Amino acid sequence: MGDGPAAASGGLGFPFIADHCPVWETEDVALFREAARRFLQAEFAPHIDRWTKAGVIDKAAWAAAGAAGFLCPSIPEAYGGGGGTIAHHFAWLEEVERITLGAAFGDGVHSGICAHYVLEYGTEPQKRQWLPPMARGEAVCAIGMTEPGTGSDLQSIKTRAVLDGADYVVNGQKTFITNGQNADLIVLVAKTDPAARAKGVSLVLVEMDRAGVSRGRNLEKIGMHAADTSELFFEDVRVPAANILGGEAGKGFYQLMNQLPQERLLIAVGAVASMETSLALTLDYVKQRQAFGQAIFDFQNTRHRLAEAVTEARVGRVFVDDCVKRLLEGRLDSKLASMAKYWATQKQNEVLDLCVQFHGGYGYMAEYPVARMWADARVQKIYGGTNEIMKELIARGL
Ligand SMILES: Cc1cc2nc3c(=O)[nH]c(=O)nc-3n(C[C@H](O)[C@H](O)[C@H](O)COP(=O)(O)OP(=O)(O)OC[C@H]3O[C@@H](n4cnc5c(N)ncnc54)[C@H](O)[C@@H]3O)c2cc1C
Repeated sequence: MGDGPAAASGGLGFPFIADHCPVWETEDVALFREAARRFLQAEFAPHIDRWTKAGVIDKAAWAAAGAAGFLCPSIPEAYGGGGGTIAHHFAWLEEVERITLGAAFGDGVHSGICAHYVLEYGTEPQKRQWLPPMARGEAVCAIGMTEPGTGSDLQSIKTRAVLDGADYVVNGQKTFITNGQNADLIVLVAKTDPAARAKGVSLVLVEMDRAGVSRGRNLEKIGMHAADTSELFFEDVRVPAANILGGEAGKGFYQLMNQLPQERLLIAVGAVASMETSLALTLDYVKQRQAFGQAIFDFQNTRHRLAEAVTEARVGRVFVDDCVKRLLEGRLDSKLASMAKYWATQKQNEVLDLCVQFHGGYGYMAEYPVARMWADARVQKIYGGTNEIMKELIARGL
């Protein structure tokens, strides 16, 4: 495993699709992707096993990715970002999938979600304060919605931010927070007016070194072991009123809802790249592994099941690529984004299960990337809005 998982796959390409290239890939995105691939092979792939055992990705890796220009590529240069589009970020995420690290590197949350909250809704001083260090990887960002008592039912959160003079005083608890140990900043979902339901929700930028903020356990999970998913506690944390995202309380729910299509698509993009990567790994494996005097690939069952899975990955690619194109054109609605998130993550799990099966006992060994990817895939159906909630959102529009 010393050469990293991608080397074990015999290359980074998707051998079953000769002209593989997303429809949204411009020349500039293609160049960015090439550079990302080289960077990730050299700087990230050799450390995946170590990060997986440590339960966290080195903070230095964030800084290295930032220094090389791969964080916040879709944020304008004026705020320290790469000046590209969300397509640049998606290409980066796909390459992170190809080294089999996937969402265990919480940059989807950092660059794909948090940076866009600050960019879209932040006041000018908030953008100037936070976006440049986020792009450099010096300030890692998390988003805190989920609490021990509530996840899907976001309006029932208990975390409060109560105005007291020029400050808000924050009390509450969050759990399952991606980047929880590494975070320097959190976009915290809190109630500023508990009586007002949706209109009483605000997003508060809370620096993690403020008095009263404490990090709980780096949670032990069944997969995504390299991700520092954590509990966070807020006890009488004083935050200047200027830290309300956008400067005006009560806008949080609207801000969250507007960003959800991009967040859900980000998960779907990762799911498709994960299917493609795991199928490439599996095709390599079954062509080499022998049983009963022939390659595993030569059994008709293997060939047919892989033919089905490769077709599904391709269907996923075409659908999700269309959604990316729509997002870039400002035409992606919540229903389509929910379809993409639900379908792609469901298929990802089915495909990964098949890939493990065709690896036999080795597919169950943690040192094999496909085993790790299988365990990592499970949460894709849960976070970012569960797939049951996705179906509710789709059904509402029927
Ligand atoms: C690894 C990991 C990383 C995460 N990262 C973050 C993060 O960075 N920030 C953050 O805020 N959260 C994060 N989460 C939390 C995640 O978003 C929630 O777990 C998710 O939204 C589900 O909420 P819940 O766990 O409270 O489940 P619940 O809401 O309690 O749901 C339990 C079950 O009931 C079903 N259900 C609930 N409501 C309905 C309904 N109306 N109709 C039908 N079925 C329903 C759900 O689909 C689910 O199957 C993360 C979670 C994990 C595991």
